[in-house]
Amino acid sequence: MKCVIDQRRDIESGQVCDGCRAWLARTLVEIVELYALLPANLTPGQAQGQRVSGSREAPLPLRVDPLDLGMPARAATVHDPLGDQIGLLSVATVLDCWARDWADVRAMRETLPEPSVAELAKWLGNRTDWACDHHPAIDEYAIEIEALRHPLRSVVGVSEIPPEHLDVPCRRCDLMDLHRLPGQDRVECGSCGDLLTEDEYSRWTKMLVADIRSHMKELVEFLRARLDEDEHIACGAQRTADFAWVPAALQSRWDARVDDHICRWSPERALAEVAAKRALLTVYTEAAAWYDANKSAPAGELHGLYIALQHIALPYAGHPDYDEAWRP
Ligand SMILES: [Zn+2]
Ligand SMILES: [Zn+2]
Repeated sequence: MKCVIDQRRDIESGQVCDGCRAWLARTLVEIVELYALLPANLTPGQAQGQRVSGSREAPLPLRVDPLDLGMPARAATVHDPLGDQIGLLSVATVLDCWARDWADVRAMRETLPEPSVAELAKWLGNRTDWACDHHPAIDEYAIEIEALRHPLRSVVGVSEIPPEHLDVPCRRCDLMDLHRLPGQDRVECGSCGDLLTEDEYSRWTKMLVADIRSHMKELVEFLRARLDEDEHIACGAQRTADFAWVPAALQSRWDARVDDHICRWSPERALAEVAAKRALLTVYTEAAAWYDANKSAPAGELHGLYIALQHIALPYAGHPDYDEAWRP
């Protein structure tokens, strides 16, 4: 069964996953905090949401009006069946409607809280776990809470933090499109929509690193041996050749283009290639050692280096020691 809020993550019981539960609780707290900052944004000239200084970043779908947001709770419908709601509903109105609704569904004759944003949020916050398990419209509640957060942030002048791009591949689609969403206990794949909690993400990167390490030990040894051979052969040619590595000196019986090619791959050049590839091996071993020392280090660097070394090993794929599992 899928979580009714994100509609993607599998859950074993109830209707809402742990990540969304935590997110709902945090969003409610954030709304109370942002709401407390509203009075400071109610100076003359700002009634239409025009900030005196600074600029709003993204255009909002609704007219933002701190006066609307800050109004006391009204016994109006949040769902606006006539579509004639012009400004925003006040925060207190939205929370009050939900408190009344939850009290009805719970049918426990509970006393409704005083209709202030702080009290309403506390009342709802204490019942969020219940709502996640039992309320039939918890998904609508999530949408409306999120819809309150956006204009509040905008009016108060707190900009949205962009998602953090993570440099490891998705466990499901293998694409490099994982993001950590600000203020949310989850990591999302922008391509396949896979959702991970922080715990799942941490386990996934550990598995990824373990997998890389299991292949890498032998791949690194294999590459070192091949580079030693390349170096040995290049040094031998350097010592025994009695000509300068320029095409004119070579004057072979082949096409001049073959001479060009031979000179391009002079022993110096071959040794420089060996040195560059050895440098990559060193970067990998250092990154692996660093990862061991700091378990929280990003796995992305190791993953990127693994891919680079897989490609570097490819020209040696004909060697009997080459392992097909290294093929990128
Ligand atoms: Zn969820
Ligand atoms: Zn994906």
